Amino acid sequence: MNKKADLNNVVEKETPHLWNAMHRYNPDATQMVASTGEGSWFSDEAGNKFFDGVSGLWCLNLGHGRQEIVDAAAEQMKKLSYSPLTLSHRPAVELAGKISELLGANYQTFFSNSGSEANETAFKIVRQYHNQTGNPEKYKVISRYRGYHGSTLGALSATAQANRRVKYDPGVPGFLHVYPPYSYRSIFDGDKEESDLKAAQLVEEMINWEGEETVAAFIMEPFISGGGVIIPSMKYIQRIAEICQKYNVLLIMDEVVSGYGRTGEMFGFMHAEGVQPDIVTMAKGLTSGYLPLGATAVKSEIYDVFKKAGKDNHFRHVSTYGGHPASCAVALKNIEIIERENIVERVRELGKSKLGDLQQLIEHENVGEVRQAGFLIGLEMVTDKQSKIPLDDVKMAEIIAACKEKGVIIGRNGDTVPGQNNVIIIAPPLTSTEEDLDFLVDTVDSVINSL
Ligand code: PLP
Repeated sequence: MNKKADLNNVVEKETPHLWNAMHRYNPDATQMVASTGEGSWFSDEAGNKFFDGVSGLWCLNLGHGRQEIVDAAAEQMKKLSYSPLTLSHRPAVELAGKISELLGANYQTFFSNSGSEANETAFKIVRQYHNQTGNPEKYKVISRYRGYHGSTLGALSATAQANRRVKYDPGVPGFLHVYPPYSYRSIFDGDKEESDLKAAQLVEEMINWEGEETVAAFIMEPFISGGGVIIPSMKYIQRIAEICQKYNVLLIMDEVVSGYGRTGEMFGFMHAEGVQPDIVTMAKGLTSGYLPLGATAVKSEIYDVFKKAGKDNHFRHVSTYGGHPASCAVALKNIEIIERENIVERVRELGKSKLGDLQQLIEHENVGEVRQAGFLIGLEMVTDKQSKIPLDDVKMAEIIAACKEKGVIIGRNGDTVPGQNNVIIIAPPLTSTEEDLDFLVDTVDSVINSL
């Protein structure tokens, strides 16, 4: 529970040399300096204790302080502190095999350091793949508005969130954006499934308008996460997979957030029966945030195209730290724990029996929609249910501050699209105790009910 120490007294006003991420300068704001963590909780240097309702940046899936993971990293560092993946090392070989097993088909994995890099790697792979299979003009990548795919220029070009791109555009040529399956505010008539399928239809239309011979790939998060937890009908994902196959457009599934159990399946795409993406990108939950690691898993048929003889047919891409031996050892231990402790099943069950209680907030006038997949929840906040006008920034900030005051950190879709940064995001560690989850639900419930 929050000790309620004097926040102003003990946190820094502005850290003198550290440039924080997404930091809007405010001379009156205070900076929280995180200090220690245990399970789903962390403390700042003042001794205030917080329940981490967003798992850091949706990555601390197994919570703080897993000694086994720490030991795996330390042992690996002692044994082989570093080796590049221009060679092989055992943790990377084993991890690539494990990823293929978990994905349920034969995949070859290229390692990097982050989700952004995993996607950048995928974009280079798809361009080269089409080039080497007789379709050199296939270079365009389609993504959805509100989707997030990373911060580097290529990944940012696939990120169709206008606010994240302010002052960085123009992006990389060849990235196109299409309407998302956002049934709550859809321009299409019909129920959720119908409206989502019409959004899928727009993807097919776009491929035709652009010329199928120019479209290389479609990238999607199975559940748009940072863009406001937008959960499509599973038929939408199946339809997208069919369209991609029909036009020889590679389907890149960005599992950076939804991978490794967060949504109640090992990977988010597994909710959609029969879908097997051409490429799966991952990071975050792959190591539960203990060390940086990104991975781009491609179907073996795609990798085969890179086995052709000739000086330019191999993948000319390298990352010094990508697939670091310690990161791979951590990922292997992380996956071992996820399997041993039946974390995916746990998320499915507690997602219903505990976090599912948040569904009741739909009764509140300011809650337009409650969207949930396992331990990934979005509360779309509105001024009233009829107009659906997004709740303003000040009110949103107040909700988040009130939760923090009560010892719970929650998030929101900040700086995504103009005028629609009104989704509260909740994504606690997958190992949170039942008591923790009750505390989270009660806190959010009481704050919203006092609006
Ligand atoms: N893809 C998705 C869906 C993400 O949510 C993120 C980060 O939040 C990324 C990619 C980028 O990952 P990273 O911050 O590790 O580069």
